[in-house]
Order: sequence, then C-alpha cells, then structure tokens
Amino acid sequence: MKADPAVQRKLLELADVDAELARVDHRRRTLPELAEIAEAEKSVQTRKDAKVANETTLGDLDREVKRQEKEIDAVRAREDRDRALLAGGTVNAKQMTDLEHELNTLERRQATLEDELLELMERREAVELDGQHAAVELAKAQEALSDAANRRDHALADLETVWARRTEERAKLVPVFPEQLLALYERVRAQRGIGASLLRARRCGACRIELDRSAISRISGTAADEVVTCDECGAIMVRTAESGL
Ligand SMILES: [Zn+2]
Repeated sequence: MKADPAVQRKLLELADVDAELARVDHRRRTLPELAEIAEAEKSVQTRKDAKVANETTLGDLDREVKRQEKEIDAVRAREDRDRALLAGGTVNAKQMTDLEHELNTLERRQATLEDELLELMERREAVELDGQHAAVELAKAQEALSDAANRRDHALADLETVWARRTEERAKLVPVFPEQLLALYERVRAQRGIGASLLRARRCGACRIELDRSAISRISGTAADEVVTCDECGAIMVRTAESGL
C-alpha cells in the first residue's frame, strides 16, 4: 500500500487523538467515584432498612403500651367498683371478705402491670433513641452518596469536554486519509489498540520492540511512500528523520 509520507505522518496525529479518546473512555469507566457511589448506595439501603425495622419495632411497642394501659385501666375500674361496694356497706361479711381478697389480687395485678408498662416505656425510649441515631446515620449516608454523585458528574463533564474536543479533531483529520490506509489503521487499532506509531530509533512506537537488522535493511530499501507495518504488532510504522534508518 502506498501513501504520501506527509499523509502517513498525519497518522501520528490521529493515533494521538485516538490514544487520548481511549484514555478518556477508560477513565470514564473506572472513575473512583463509581465504586464509591456503589458503596454509598449500599450503605444508604442498609440504613433505610434499619430505619424501617426501627419504625416497625416502635409501632409494635406503641401497640403494646396501649394494650397494657387499657388493661391497667380495666383493673383500676374493677378496684374502684370493689372499693365502692365495700364503702357502700350493703354487702354481707362473706361478700366483704371475698371483695377484700379480690381487691388484694387486683392491687398486686395492677402493680405487676405497671412494672411491665414501665419496662415497655423504657424499651420504647431506647428504640426511639436508636431511631434518631439511625436517621442521623441515614442522612449522613445520603449526603455521602450525593457528594460522590456530584464529584462523578463533575469528572464526567470534564471528560466529556475533552471527548468532544478530540472527537471534533478526529473528524477533521479523518478526511485526510485515503480509504484503504484508514481501513488498515482502524483494523489494526481494533485488534491491538494502536493503529499507527512513529518508528523511532529503530523501535516500533506501538509495541516498543526493536527491529532487527534485516527488518531495518528491508524498510530502508522501501520507498518513502510505501506503508510499512510492524512484524510484531501490525501497527503502521511512520518513518521520519527520527527513525534511525
Ligand atoms: Zn510493533
């Protein structure tokens, strides 16, 4: 394949642009913020789950407290009724003994229920405190997530600017090359990552392998407009005064 040496040299500009585009693309996919965001999302989810669990526990305890209070009220009402009967003086001695006995039982029952209620209230208070702590932790995790997302967005916007500029440069460069030369370049680039590079000091710029004597003499004897490729990596080797031929 033949191509004007000046056009061949232009391939180096194209390769530079492509190398930067590849770097930008790699950077976009490997931004540290991406891993950070994935972690932060997990953390937010864990804390949301904890908050829901806490609210459920709190709801259960509230219902238990209400039930306990109702039971205490019922016991108290019964005590009041018994006391009223005792004070009314309309009951006989046997009934009086029974009522006093029942009143004793009710008072013990009330004390037990009140102890249990107190315990419930203490547990509720502890759970509520946990809930407040969980809410703070959730807010912190959400803040960390949005902070990481912001940094990712800024980084992506910067990369997008570089990407757009280089893509524009590439679009301007591409029409310079004959179709076949560009096709060869693209094919090698797709396979090896680098389509063309400078042959500098007898070394292929793409794979960095030093050409042996026979390769050098072969290339030296090749016309300047002949397109030569590296035997090792297939990249188009652009020859200049730096090539050491
Ligand atoms: Zn090579």
